[in-house]
Amino acid sequence: MKSNMEILDVGEVHIERPRLLVTGGRGLVGTQISGGIKIGSNLDLRDSKICDSFFNDTRPINVVHCAAKVGGLGGNINLKGEFFYDNIMINTNVIESCRKYGVRKLVCFLSTCVFPDKVEYPLTEKKVHLGEPHNSNYPYAYAKRMADVQIRAYREQYDLNYVSVIPTNIYGPNDNFNLENGHVIPSLIHKCYLAKKNNTPFKVWGSGKPLREFIYSEDVAKLTEWVLENYNEEEPIILSTSEEISIRDVVGLIVKHMDFKGKVIWEEDKPDGQYRKPSDNSKLMSYLPDFKFTSLDEGLKKTIDWFVSNYESCRK
Ligand code: GDP
Repeated sequence: MKSNMEILDVGEVHIERPRLLVTGGRGLVGTQISGGIKIGSNLDLRDSKICDSFFNDTRPINVVHCAAKVGGLGGNINLKGEFFYDNIMINTNVIESCRKYGVRKLVCFLSTCVFPDKVEYPLTEKKVHLGEPHNSNYPYAYAKRMADVQIRAYREQYDLNYVSVIPTNIYGPNDNFNLENGHVIPSLIHKCYLAKKNNTPFKVWGSGKPLREFIYSEDVAKLTEWVLENYNEEEPIILSTSEEISIRDVVGLIVKHMDFKGKVIWEEDKPDGQYRKPSDNSKLMSYLPDFKFTSLDEGLKKTIDWFVSNYESCRK
């Protein structure tokens, strides 16, 4: 069994190196990754001095980089400047600190937002840079695309085994359940919870017609641990079930698991965002043909149970 630490010789000084550092370690995916040192938003990774000094002190062997300024459709539309600046700074600093302080393997999180808006479906790893991202989230998307560029350049110039993953819409415990700036599943769980509690209608944005592919955070964590050990290609790898579901059907599942008996209102003046963004998971499946994804029904049940039990303390 691997030890969690390794000794690094720096002249006379011996530094104990942790096997793994997870940025965004208190978030949706980071909390599900087992072991490792976890850093959360208390460390301002937008500041290169802070980032460097942390890496200099800890000298991790491997890094999973999940930290990002994230949000659903609402956040992406309302906070465009912040989404660009925070993400481009965080990614640039983390990848550069990994290089400077001898990180051997980096797994960097991208997102399906990186893909072009107008592109032939399904989305594959080869299509990341083929055209403009959707207008609703281009600042976040371009910042993430640049992480892919930085990794490619670092692999070529410095011969580093740094890789990136592209998960589809992740959901699960420890998400941000904010009503305005959260992603669709946590926002809707929170809205349905309040509607039930206050005996008011459950208001959902848009037409309910858009299709999305959801992946449970525990599955993403398992796949990330596999990537850390086994995936070494320059091209990103898509982490996806490749199963689409409409927002209307997601709402149906949430209503079922929350046992909500009130009225659902579709706010059609609110944005739908992209209609669909189906992905092709065949690369992942060629490596892991037997991987069993958590069904949306089961994952939603677990997420809702977690939210209800942690209502007072969760991010919202
Ligand atoms: P996207 O996949 O990047 O577009 O991000 P989201 O996770 O925010 O999903 C957006 C989809 O869910 C859109 O079709 C929205 O219209 C729909 N939706 C319905 N209600 C909500 C809500 O309360 N919050 C969010 N973020 N999306 C909602």
